[in-house]
Amino acid sequence: MKFIETRGNDGKHSQEITFSEAILSPIASFGGLYVPKEFPMLGEAFLTKHLNSSYKELAKDLLTTLDIDIEPSVIDEALSLYDKFDDPSNPVPVVKVRDDLYVSELYHGPTRAFKDMALQPFGVVLSSIAQKRGEEYLILAATSGDTGPAALETFKNRPNVRVVCLYPDGGTSDVQRLQMVTEDAANLKVIGIKGDFDDAQSALKRLLGSATFKDTLKAKNISLSAANSVNFGRIIFQIIYHIHSYLELVRQNVITMGEKVYLDVPSGNFGNALGGYYATKMGLPVEKIIIASNENNVLTRLINTGRYDLRGEKVIPTTSPAMDILISSNVERILFDLLGPERTKELMQGLESERFYALSDDETMKLQAMFAADYCNGAEGKGYIKEAFDGGYLMDPHTATCFKAYDCCATLPLKTIVYSTAEWTKFSPTIANALSGETGARDIDALEAISAMASTPIPDMIKGLFSKPVTQSTVIDKENIETEILNFLK
Ligand SMILES: *Cc1c(COP(=O)(O)O)cnc(C)c1O
Repeated sequence: MKFIETRGNDGKHSQEITFSEAILSPIASFGGLYVPKEFPMLGEAFLTKHLNSSYKELAKDLLTTLDIDIEPSVIDEALSLYDKFDDPSNPVPVVKVRDDLYVSELYHGPTRAFKDMALQPFGVVLSSIAQKRGEEYLILAATSGDTGPAALETFKNRPNVRVVCLYPDGGTSDVQRLQMVTEDAANLKVIGIKGDFDDAQSALKRLLGSATFKDTLKAKNISLSAANSVNFGRIIFQIIYHIHSYLELVRQNVITMGEKVYLDVPSGNFGNALGGYYATKMGLPVEKIIIASNENNVLTRLINTGRYDLRGEKVIPTTSPAMDILISSNVERILFDLLGPERTKELMQGLESERFYALSDDETMKLQAMFAADYCNGAEGKGYIKEAFDGGYLMDPHTATCFKAYDCCATLPLKTIVYSTAEWTKFSPTIANALSGETGARDIDALEAISAMASTPIPDMIKGLFSKPVTQSTVIDKENIETEILNFLK
């Protein structure tokens, strides 16, 4: 599989590159992204072949078919990380919650959020490329809560890679913060920033773009990279579970092979939904992908009106913070697929300079042929959490946004796969509030209250966090980030 660029080629970048090159330098000509040049058509034969395969067997065959330049032994090692999930024989259970609604649980990995699905294997792949090239990498990550723990967990003690993770001090849940500040490995550094997520994110962008910072690192023989969600090394692992979830429904006799379904995805940077789109392109029988958002509803407006409009918009803090995003980076890859590189470049440059673009009616119809969208506010989300709980299912606030979108957008009588992206343990104060009206609870109290109400234990890796020693206590002003990073690299 070769990769080309969403905004066309500027004559300075290669015309096409390999998978490992796309992982190491994810930014393409004119600030665009890399995308596969073509996808194989897998069709029903591939699905039928894997009806009785394990998750890892399916994944191995898919990655082999996609023909990436990673050695089979490295792919095996990467996929073996799914053995750390709750049930190694099925890392992604799919459970019935309502008549036509099935939840695919993507959160059974070590950090209890769906970021593990891609970051766990990605850590092995990146570290092995670095070793093979004899290069040292510094990975920078800015997190609002889920990416940080998942990135630290996957790169912990891996050769040739060091990680610096920036988080907004006071801007994450207790559980998310403890998952980061109790990580203890010589190649990891966690830095709290006095500021919000945008401050952490813009500090990171500044460093990634700074020639002097890169030169300073080069003098130490270190190259800079990022583990953000536009990296195709993450996207590729997000195609697999859509195919797996479909096959689970066939195995459970819920659908027959070839029957169409809806995919219902709680979306932020659009990596999860993009994986579903690529699976569909390769022949997964999908009627539409339903995009669920919270009050930061740019994606709902884009899909329903064809207009991406950020003029005067600010991020609204919500109870589903992993989706508090205005610039949804992977949408660019959809634009490229539907409209080609010239138009994508024009639209993305419009978004960057005017904070706005508008698709034509024709283009909007193309988008709507594949996607539907709706958004859910915090009060509605809590209503869905309570309703599901009363029916015997405990879910987190991100997953809840999908229930609103399902009610609005699943218009045909087809089965729907809702993707659950976080375990209840990561957002317990919101859930406790939805279930009992209790407000202002600390995570530990909310966890215990929910555990009692639901008669379900708090998983050990969450409970253990509260007694684990804090090893990463750095909290600094954003002006001092660069100095702090250079100190760590000494
Ligand atoms: C990252 C994340 C999302 C958003 O996923 P995207 O792939 O960025 O659209 C949704 N829910 C949770 C819990 C997440 O951590």
